[in-house]
Amino acid sequence: MAEFDTVIIGAGVSGVTAAKLLHRAGQRVVVLEARDRIGGRTWTDRTDGDPTDRGASWIHGIDDSPVAEAATAFGMRMVEFTVGGYQPDSRPIAHYSPAGIRLTDNEAAAYVADIHAVNAELVEVIAASAPGDSYRDVTEVALARQGWSAERAQRVREYVEHRAEEQYGVWIEEMGAHGLDDDTVNGDEVVFPDGYDQLAAHIAEGLDIRLHQVVDTVTWSADGVDVRTAHGEEFRAASAIVTVPIGVLTSGAFTIDPPLPETHADPLSRLKMNAFEKIFLTFPEKFWDEDVYAIRQQGPEGRWWHSWYDLSTLHGTPTLLTFAAGPAAVQTRGWDAGDIVDDVMTQLRRLYGEGVPDPTGVKMTAWQDDPFSHGAYAYMAIGSLPEEHDQLAVPIGGVLHLAGEATWSDDPATVPGAMLSGHRAAQNVLGQDLPIEDIWA
Ligand SMILES: Cc1cc2nc3c(=O)[nH]c(=O)nc-3n(C[C@H](O)[C@H](O)[C@H](O)COP(=O)(O)OP(=O)(O)OC[C@H]3O[C@@H](n4cnc5c(N)ncnc54)[C@H](O)[C@@H]3O)c2cc1C
Repeated sequence: MAEFDTVIIGAGVSGVTAAKLLHRAGQRVVVLEARDRIGGRTWTDRTDGDPTDRGASWIHGIDDSPVAEAATAFGMRMVEFTVGGYQPDSRPIAHYSPAGIRLTDNEAAAYVADIHAVNAELVEVIAASAPGDSYRDVTEVALARQGWSAERAQRVREYVEHRAEEQYGVWIEEMGAHGLDDDTVNGDEVVFPDGYDQLAAHIAEGLDIRLHQVVDTVTWSADGVDVRTAHGEEFRAASAIVTVPIGVLTSGAFTIDPPLPETHADPLSRLKMNAFEKIFLTFPEKFWDEDVYAIRQQGPEGRWWHSWYDLSTLHGTPTLLTFAAGPAAVQTRGWDAGDIVDDVMTQLRRLYGEGVPDPTGVKMTAWQDDPFSHGAYAYMAIGSLPEEHDQLAVPIGGVLHLAGEATWSDDPATVPGAMLSGHRAAQNVLGQDLPIEDIWA
């Protein structure tokens, strides 16, 4: 049996980060990865056209971001695109009314002011919420306090529904009241025209990473950890860091023996994998508004398809990105790709006319069907509290460590959260502080 100081399960950003830091500290480390590639939920598709990030795209705020620092150190090109936090007004956005008519500047300003009023109210309402409250419950309280007409309130209600869907891939009634507490953007947002996958690739340089290793059992005791793969290979180490997404962790295909203690199993039971898919459409020419970062439509026609992001500047190809998020992703799962495109195009033609051409290129994700993630990222179900993410990372028996986006309270569901959780896990393994710059130095 192969023996190591630390075995790490998963070569996503959290796994390679922990491995890099432990390797630099002199440990014998192996990373076991189920897929035929590293990077996990950072995944750049280079087939068929321009580099396309099928997983993460954005750094949601570059101020004090370790990912921005790492990307700069690695020489990764970044393009400003500050519209990834479902902000209503960060950058120019073309807002369309329920009738499909573009709002005037004054109408848009009034709509955005209403959103800010509800957001301000939400802070207090969420702080006073009860454990069983959903994000819908707190939204309704904040809306009721405004004393608006039904129509005016409905526009903001829709906006908040869509924010829950685009930020967390979940229907507003299934997310806990605190589910968007972390949802802040510090500084400009950026995307990577050459691909987010370069981050993990740079961090992984010089590491012992074994691909096609589907781990199915992790057995731990005070003496250390045994890790077994589906093909019967075994790895033994003093410590293990498990970075698989919680969709894998809670599936029957991944066994931890003895099972996670209640201190971990209980908070884990309130985190769920979401439903969030990307749809990239390329066109022969731009037919939409000039000089906007995004297009949004209000009203019932926008229930599923309400937002499109103009990615044309990234590669010079006219491209719109939209999301099937929450109910749209759940209900279109298994649809024929052509039917999904037709449905999206119906809405674009409603806004821009029947002359809108069919897309010449389509890329669509299927994270819900991915056996190594079971969704895009974790959301907080009813009753979940932000600090419960961190609770998952408390070392178990001194030998077993959980890491990954879902274990980082401050900024879960993100690449920075994954990176910082890997940094923390490495420190916990060694029992000492490590400079985060060691990841990219
Ligand atoms: C569509 C989408 C859009 C997103 N957008 C953004 C964004 O714009 N900005 C942002 O910051 N974040 C975004 N995210 C979230 C971000 O990608 C993740 O939070 C982050 O990449 C997670 O890193 P991780 O290391 O925790 O997990 P992962 O990257 O999932 O790494 C875990 C690894 O474990 C492997 N694994 C799973 N099961 C096994 C097994 N049985 N044996 C061995 N290995 C296994 C997986 O293959 C994977 O490589 C997005 C994610 C998706 C899917």
